[in-house]
Amino acid sequence: MNLNEYDYIIVAFSGGKDSTACFLDLLDNGVDKEKIELWHHLIDGAPGSDPFMDWPITEDYCREFAKEFNVPIYFSWRDGGFEQEMLRDNSPTGKVFWENPDGTIDSSGGKGPDGTRRKFPQVSADLRVRWCSAYLKIDVMSAAINNQERFKGKKTLVVTGERAGESKSRSNYNTFENHRCHGKLRTVHHWRPIHDWTEKQVWEIMEKHRIMAHPAYWLGWGRLSCITCIFGNANQWASAAELYPAMVEKIAKYEEEFGFTIKQGVSVRELVEKGTPYEGVTYLVEAWIEERQLIRSRGGWTLPSGAYGESNGPT
Ligand code: SF4
Repeated sequence: MNLNEYDYIIVAFSGGKDSTACFLDLLDNGVDKEKIELWHHLIDGAPGSDPFMDWPITEDYCREFAKEFNVPIYFSWRDGGFEQEMLRDNSPTGKVFWENPDGTIDSSGGKGPDGTRRKFPQVSADLRVRWCSAYLKIDVMSAAINNQERFKGKKTLVVTGERAGESKSRSNYNTFENHRCHGKLRTVHHWRPIHDWTEKQVWEIMEKHRIMAHPAYWLGWGRLSCITCIFGNANQWASAAELYPAMVEKIAKYEEEFGFTIKQGVSVRELVEKGTPYEGVTYLVEAWIEERQLIRSRGGWTLPSGAYGESNGPT
């Protein structure tokens, strides 16, 4: 594949190890950094919004990462984020907003049709019921590509970090295909450069570039998802409850209000009760960041405690 033929290379950047590995692999392949941009979809809405599902520190981590490598990062989000989408009651899904390279913000959509959710996304590989991935990430990216003039008549490569080893459904993904935004007006390809990588290879490239992984990995998570991801296991819910009790309490209250739990047959309160928080999770994450806010270690490099650990997350 000739990466030089693309005008734009967009890395869907969650801040997690796999999207980081994609970015580092592009650098290792000598891709012109001028063409690379990181895109991060904010799960809880506009930058700086109160966290509802996502790690309150992820936005900053992504900003710092982009700064460290001197590449642009553009945030995009659905109006009101996860909570507003979940609370739809005979109302349309929110507008999609995105940041442009000149610093302006544009939006599209928000006109309907009306719909009602009033329940959490369900744990499933089916994106119609696991609506968070579709409505807060996939559709947001598509709206941001389809509505920016700069992509018209150009060749764009979207890079994402799914690996076959993560799940059966991900093993069936194509490594290379036309992106859903591809068409007569714009060429958009989708590449999964680390699709056949092992987790070991991912950590190796992190080590090679001395990347200090997102604090979630140091606290014990094997994967960076939302802190209260619907796929989270009991230990992760118990850890989340120690770190951000108000977030977990709010979710538990919605479960009671809706009469639907996130996980079938077990409530968030029961999961917290059943789980054992990861060791050391009582550290305040903010304090941790203040002490070790480096993106790239200046000295040695060690594997975070979450590596090869509990990797519950979207499949
Ligand atoms: S990380 Fe989990 S909760 Fe967050 S959007 Fe993805 S599947 Fe949904």
